Amino acid sequence: MKIHSLEVYIVDLPTIRPHHLAMHTIVTQTIVLACMRSEDGIEGWGEVATIGGASYFEESPEVIKLTIEKYISPLLIGKNPINFDALSHTIGIHVKGNYFAKALVEATMIDLVAKYKNVPSYELFGGQCHTSLPVAWTLASGDTVRDIEEAKHCLETKRHNIFKLKIGKGDPKKNVAHVIKIKEAIGGAGSVRVDVNQAWDEATSLYCIEALEDGGVDLIEQPLMSWNNEGMSRLSSRFKVPIMADESLGTIQEAYQIAKNRAADVFALKVPKAGGLTATKKVAAIAEASGIPMYGGTMIESSLGTAICAQLYSTIPEMKFGTELFGPLLFKDNITVNQIEYENFEIIIPNGPGFGMVVDKEKVKHYSRETVSSIN
Ligand SMILES: [Mg+2]
Repeated sequence: MKIHSLEVYIVDLPTIRPHHLAMHTIVTQTIVLACMRSEDGIEGWGEVATIGGASYFEESPEVIKLTIEKYISPLLIGKNPINFDALSHTIGIHVKGNYFAKALVEATMIDLVAKYKNVPSYELFGGQCHTSLPVAWTLASGDTVRDIEEAKHCLETKRHNIFKLKIGKGDPKKNVAHVIKIKEAIGGAGSVRVDVNQAWDEATSLYCIEALEDGGVDLIEQPLMSWNNEGMSRLSSRFKVPIMADESLGTIQEAYQIAKNRAADVFALKVPKAGGLTATKKVAAIAEASGIPMYGGTMIESSLGTAICAQLYSTIPEMKFGTELFGPLLFKDNITVNQIEYENFEIIIPNGPGFGMVVDKEKVKHYSRETVSSIN
């Protein structure tokens, strides 16, 4: 089998409500799709999502597309995708950084190879440890009453009982009060966690985390800037409530440094920030070797990107903190024929060849920024 072509599409999908984060408010989520075709016509599809252009991570959707088309694709045409790990190594020699672009390309190779073998992609990673995983919902409407209503509806419908609040924007004291009101309203029916998205300094973190810990919050995600591992280490040793690394944890080298310096109590895995599924599995191994529990993060992918993450997370034996693979529920529309299923507070891991999702090419054409003439 040989790779014949690799095409990249930037797709803007509307969300059901504004989603407020410290660095950006999402009303239209931008995902990058790639389609790799073999010479005998098998297609492998991949997706990575970005948040607010380049405001969350360095790579914008436009850069991901350009890097793949100009620098990665020429390395792959004519090569056998079955050796996807060797091809990823070759890409790494010629392209530094650009982890989202690399993750997208690796996903297309894995989807293609798994479809060729007619197996789910998770079989290429040791098979499933889980057929479903707990899934958190992010309360990010920006309004306390609306967030409480949303949380209660999630509990009643058995959709989610883990709630994450994005609290990096605005007055830290008001944000902490907002979180504690929500925790009081939910009580023991659900877990409340916060994501600060690097917005606090260490002094702010000290009094805010103390109040959040007293208020019954279960997890504090990335309070400090991504470079501040020393500060994260101090916070982790000071508080009982676990501190989780997200933006500070990308590559396997960063995972090693955080584990060695105990600069977090929990790892938030994300396939694109590690540079792909294989690298994410290695980050998980570092966590396992260090006794650090894991959480399956999201970049707010649509159904395909969610399936990619879900399949990989399903191969990791211990996912103590569950996942936040709620992405498809935030979109008004989707780019696959079949949809991700949620049941009894969990995401059902997709089955079927590849990542188990069938791309709806008409939807890709509809939402793509470019004229997609080559999709048929
Ligand atoms: Mg986060």
